[in-house]
Amino acid sequence: MEFIDLKAQQEQILPNGRKLKEVISDNIQNVLDHGRYILGPEVEELELILKNFTGAKYCIATASGTDALLIALMALNISNGDEVITTPFSFISTSEVIELLGAKPVFVDIDPNTYNINPNKIEEVISTKTKAILPVSLYGQPANFIEINLLAKKYNLPVIEDAAQSFGSTHNGKFSCTLSTIGTTSFFPSKPFGCYGDGGACFTNNNDLAAKIRKISRHGQEERYIHSDLGINGRIDTLQAAILLAKFPLFKQEIISRQNSAEIYNKKLKKIGINSIPTISQLNTSVYAQYTIQVDNRKEIQSHLKKLGIPTAVHYPTILPDQPALGGPQVHCKFTEATRASKRVLSLPMHPYLSQDNQEFIVNSISKII
Ligand SMILES: *Cc1c(COP(=O)(O)O)cnc(C)c1O
Repeated sequence: MEFIDLKAQQEQILPNGRKLKEVISDNIQNVLDHGRYILGPEVEELELILKNFTGAKYCIATASGTDALLIALMALNISNGDEVITTPFSFISTSEVIELLGAKPVFVDIDPNTYNINPNKIEEVISTKTKAILPVSLYGQPANFIEINLLAKKYNLPVIEDAAQSFGSTHNGKFSCTLSTIGTTSFFPSKPFGCYGDGGACFTNNNDLAAKIRKISRHGQEERYIHSDLGINGRIDTLQAAILLAKFPLFKQEIISRQNSAEIYNKKLKKIGINSIPTISQLNTSVYAQYTIQVDNRKEIQSHLKKLGIPTAVHYPTILPDQPALGGPQVHCKFTEATRASKRVLSLPMHPYLSQDNQEFIVNSISKII
């Protein structure tokens, strides 16, 4: 059994009656034929499709989700000495990009139900140095942007959504990536919408920011060899764009399929007495980038499942403020919810092609150890 089965997807039949695998091959061959490996026509086509899908005014495809975050912060002029409010419970990228720009991540504990930043605790850390708020929409559901945006408006702060795990989900009827000043996502292979390498995108409705993001992702280039700003090499590869274009027609159905699998897990797990199933806010839909529960004896359960051939994962065993690269374990008692979650969360296999039989087997196997 795979934790995320990427091969099963290749066998799927697209709405046009063709196998995904074949369309991917054709799309790759097309790129080899036209030879425009950097910013070929597939990149523009992808940006158009993603823009229309989310309803964002602008989409700029990037080399990765991390680059999308970095570029977003650069476009907002985040630099030395600035503070960016963010969550302690995420993948390293979220804080890494803040530190890389010489700014400081200021962490706010999570809501233990959704695992996303707790909006009620943001105001107390806003200072004169605060330049942005960077919430993550973890495991596939958006953070509480209604609340976060109210605060941001009060203090005139831009908000960046790290939507690496939530592309395709919704909050209050709007798509993730369009919920704040800038939304960023990732097309890392195991994300809900993944390519076969690295890729990502920035979304915004702001004209000036869109132009800035585009420029920064291309070495700050105004016209050929005229660089009016410092930028990075942050473009998506044409080949990755071509692969995403092939996969896109499956995406909506895949979201539904993930949601169905989540419902099945919910029911089966409740039956065996596990109540720590994912809590999805009434305002949200989730794309279940992860299906994550909480358990007391995580190590034991993981090794028991591993012996039976069931892969599991922990997202994330260490909170960001405790990462050596970000300062290391500090004496703090401020992130109790994130710390507690980091010790208890367990992600089960989740992908659009997970069979009910496998789910049955996974839950039965868990029931035998708890
Ligand atoms: C995957 C991920 C990223 C980074 O995306 P890459 O495309 O791997 O650079 C950033 N933030 C979160 C929350 C992620 O899950």
